[in-house]
Amino acid sequence: MSEERTEVGSLGEFGLIDYLTRNIEIQQASTVLGVGDDAAVIDHFGKQTVISTDMLVEGIHFDLAYTPLKHLGYKSVVVNLSDIYAMNATPTHITVSIAFSNRFSVEALSEFYDGVYAACERYGVDLVGGDTSSSQKGFVISVTAIGEVAPDQFVKRSTAEKGDLICVSGDLGAAFLGLTLLEREKQVHLQHPQLQPDLENQTYIIGRLLKPEARKDIIEFLESSEIRPTAMMDVSDGLSSEALHICKQSNLGCVIYEDKLPIHDQSRQQAMKFSLDPTACALSGGEDYELLFTIKQADHEKLLLNEQISVIGYMTDISEGAHIITKGGNKFKLVAQGWNAFEQ
Ligand code: ADP
Ligand code: MG
Repeated sequence: MSEERTEVGSLGEFGLIDYLTRNIEIQQASTVLGVGDDAAVIDHFGKQTVISTDMLVEGIHFDLAYTPLKHLGYKSVVVNLSDIYAMNATPTHITVSIAFSNRFSVEALSEFYDGVYAACERYGVDLVGGDTSSSQKGFVISVTAIGEVAPDQFVKRSTAEKGDLICVSGDLGAAFLGLTLLEREKQVHLQHPQLQPDLENQTYIIGRLLKPEARKDIIEFLESSEIRPTAMMDVSDGLSSEALHICKQSNLGCVIYEDKLPIHDQSRQQAMKFSLDPTACALSGGEDYELLFTIKQADHEKLLLNEQISVIGYMTDISEGAHIITKGGNKFKLVAQGWNAFEQ
């Protein structure tokens, strides 16, 4: 961060909004009216509109001790776009609302917005509004994402069918391991401020935590390959929890194979260093922002060329429950949370 510190009070609320939104360049033809009036106006030209919103609270969802504000701005947008992609829709617009204490200067908020705009550019969405407030303590962020989808092409969690293959994009557990690493380094730093953290060789897992991406590429691949997922959601709370959502809402059971779970080498190594089970990290870690979806068996072949997609199991009758088969061939009940990932 630069040395300068401009108090928000010197600009006032409206001056701050003008300052933070002064360089907006509209990217979407559907943006009729953006920032500056009582509301934005969007014309979705006969498409259906998808909306999702999320709140991020300092001390609960992020820790500014190791989260650069620019990354936080980027991530706040990306986690919302991920929800829109998970509906098989294309995000087009966001609103960003912030509340902050007088600990935050204009420069700090501006850095946060640099990250917001970087995400807008990367994903082609327009920032069309928001709200600005002070808070007694800490930083609160609320982002709403709006997207479009051709009529009735959205994909729900409740429409998987028995025999469908369960697929997941990318790899799992890395963000959780990045978080565990940064939390540990923070504790070391608090006790020994003279020690510099050694985070070399850990850039992948830290990047997965601090600068996640939404799987726009997977949605585009599915469309171009003419694969219509039967059910889909994004993985924000850990694979177990999300797979159980699809089971419950689709009235089905599932089988997942431990040896099919995609786990990055760096995640495995870091898990070993912490004496954690990499599989447990993948099942319960969270913040992966990958896509979990089911497809018809007939579509399996079309997936084979895409190395970013792993088939990890299949949907069963509800009477069979939800299970994971371990590498050793044992069968355990899939549980939503906690470290005892293999509770029977
Ligand atoms: P209102 O009094 O109707 O809530 P505001 O003064 O809060 O209006 O907002 C004025 C305009 O600035 C609106 O278009 C609003 O969406 C936008 N805006 C306010 N805060 C932010 C923000 N933090 N980021 C982006 N746009 C914002
Ligand atoms: Mg307002």
